[in-house]
Amino acid sequence: MPELPEVEQVRCSLLPHIKNEKICNVEIRLPRMVVHPTVPEFIAGVEGQVITDVRRKGKYLMLLLNNGQYILAHLRMTGAMLICPHDGKEPPFAKIRFVLANGKDMWFTDIRTFGTMSLCGGNDVWQDKGFAALGPEPLSPGFTEANLREKLKKSHQMVKCFILDQHKIAGMGNIYADEALAAAGIRPTRYSDALTKKQVHVLYEAINQVIAQGLRNHGTTFRNYQDADGLMGNNKDYLLVYGRKGQPCTKCGTLLRKIKVAGRGSVYCPHCQK
Ligand SMILES: [Zn+2]
Repeated sequence: MPELPEVEQVRCSLLPHIKNEKICNVEIRLPRMVVHPTVPEFIAGVEGQVITDVRRKGKYLMLLLNNGQYILAHLRMTGAMLICPHDGKEPPFAKIRFVLANGKDMWFTDIRTFGTMSLCGGNDVWQDKGFAALGPEPLSPGFTEANLREKLKKSHQMVKCFILDQHKIAGMGNIYADEALAAAGIRPTRYSDALTKKQVHVLYEAINQVIAQGLRNHGTTFRNYQDADGLMGNNKDYLLVYGRKGQPCTKCGTLLRKIKVAGRGSVYCPHCQK
């Protein structure tokens, strides 16, 4: 699933192709991917609009339109936004097509089709619940150590679940949660309210560090993730634990273990992570 660094890379790679471009036509092949408003309303609200900017919040992309509304997109498991020439071959798993005035098409492709799009803002009071409730994201001024400590203290859940909760921290998914816990030397099964002040400090630093590294490396491609130009990220080469079950820990050589935490596979070093 694309997480904060991957969605940010999608944003950056989309921008030069679509900023200040007019959407001439929209074609929706899988209507249920448009969650709000109705499909005809979505098309009517989007066609003829100019995309003035592309922003990101957590794992959501916002395509700002010149009528004051925005297209809110979530890629979920396998969604992608791809730019292709209008007269070129269409990409695999194409679900929604935006025909732009500059001769390019922006495609929302999705293999597993959990991705969503909606048209929000302006006079419409509808809100995407997940989007409205996002917590602060790593590397942002709203994400402070004091705030993290406060929330951890109040939460009696395993720290891995805490990190994945988008209301607590926005933008973290399975890859960066496992990586942050490995960098901090904390087991995914530790309870949030049992962490020491020192561990909270180290975890705070680790969360920012793994996200910064993911951004620098243009995201992590494991299976499907690609940016708007179809390029893969290279953060995979720098991972400490994610996807490395049974391989030696880069710090101590102990073989990494994989367990399930709240249904999610979690890889950790039994020696380094306490
Ligand atoms: Zn180790």
